[in-house]
Amino acid sequence: MAEEFLNLEAITKTFGTNTVIKDLDLSFNSGEFVSLLGPSGCGKTTVLRMIAGFEKPTKGRIFADGREITHLKPSQRNVGMVFQSYALFPNLNVRDNIGFGLKVAGVPRAKARERVAEMLELIGLPDLGRRYAFELSGGQQQRVALARALAPSPRMLLLDEPLSALDAKIRVSLREQIRNIQRELGITTIFVTHDQEEALSISDRIVVMNAGHIEQVGAPFEVYNRPATPFVANFVGTLNRVEARVKNAAAQEVAIGEQSVVLKKLPATVRDGEPIVLALRPEALNLVNGADDGICLNARVEAVSFLGSVIRVGVAVGDTRLHVDLFNDRRSAPPQPGETLRVGFKDEDVISVTA
Ligand code: ATP
Repeated sequence: MAEEFLNLEAITKTFGTNTVIKDLDLSFNSGEFVSLLGPSGCGKTTVLRMIAGFEKPTKGRIFADGREITHLKPSQRNVGMVFQSYALFPNLNVRDNIGFGLKVAGVPRAKARERVAEMLELIGLPDLGRRYAFELSGGQQQRVALARALAPSPRMLLLDEPLSALDAKIRVSLREQIRNIQRELGITTIFVTHDQEEALSISDRIVVMNAGHIEQVGAPFEVYNRPATPFVANFVGTLNRVEARVKNAAAQEVAIGEQSVVLKKLPATVRDGEPIVLALRPEALNLVNGADDGICLNARVEAVSFLGSVIRVGVAVGDTRLHVDLFNDRRSAPPQPGETLRVGFKDEDVISVTA
């Protein structure tokens, strides 16, 4: 059993009359990398700032390593923080930026110099110690900001959208570096992002937030494949919503447009004539050639996007538009717009059937 390191107990945060976090309970294990994921304004940064000590909860308590920290100042909490804007001191070179927290803590000079050199190695910039922020790329500045946060050996690392200001390519390479450094140090890390792909790729667990509350907490695989709520299913990954109508509940017969299929997953509570929606991931749909034992629908290709490893095909089934993700096997030619074909899926791949 992993050891719990940080606990948020019944946290509520109100700004004026606006309650932005409501009765939130959350715990983090020692050495774990957890993302807080959710749309803009859902309260992710507020949670992070309460953990850091920049905001006080209106109600509730925070514990780290067995002791209450709710009322401690940020400087007493032993946390390192990295923000979206690199926020390096412009008048200090890289070394002095990284050594800043050590100086404030009164670490002897020789020891601080050694630690700074170690940190420069850790972030892969051993030769850039004398540079100033304006002489570095955005990605390099963010690595320096990370080294500055880690230099005083904090017990927790808090990252607030640290990759948002960077180009797509750098973002991917830096997120891998952050994850590797975090693993190497074994430091408990909380990462705020609104980018679901980023959260899926980097985290041990994801906390999906919506309007100040938690929708689901789970490993990326779990959150993506078994979303606990319709919000999570929509927010994490692409979702097809197939509108259908119950034709004959007893026979599990469902009409999708003009076509009839048998859906074994049909809830027992539905009635004949009732509209329902099936939720399916794009990769759960496939093209059917010849016989198939799953559910098949006639479809017309409307758009084809070549994404490299995946080919995303937009199809129309009656009035319903669906995304079908095909694995690029490098042999089969992608379908063409205007083509008619059959798309299939299996009952067990339907994420949910809602009335
Ligand atoms: P984003 O991704 O846009 O940063 P977020 O999920 O991190 O969003 P928060 O920054 O935590 O969201 O904000 C949550 C809500 O709290 C928002 O409605 C915001 O306007 C409000 N809020 C945050 N800080 C303050 C403050 N100091 N005073 C008043 N309202 C605030």
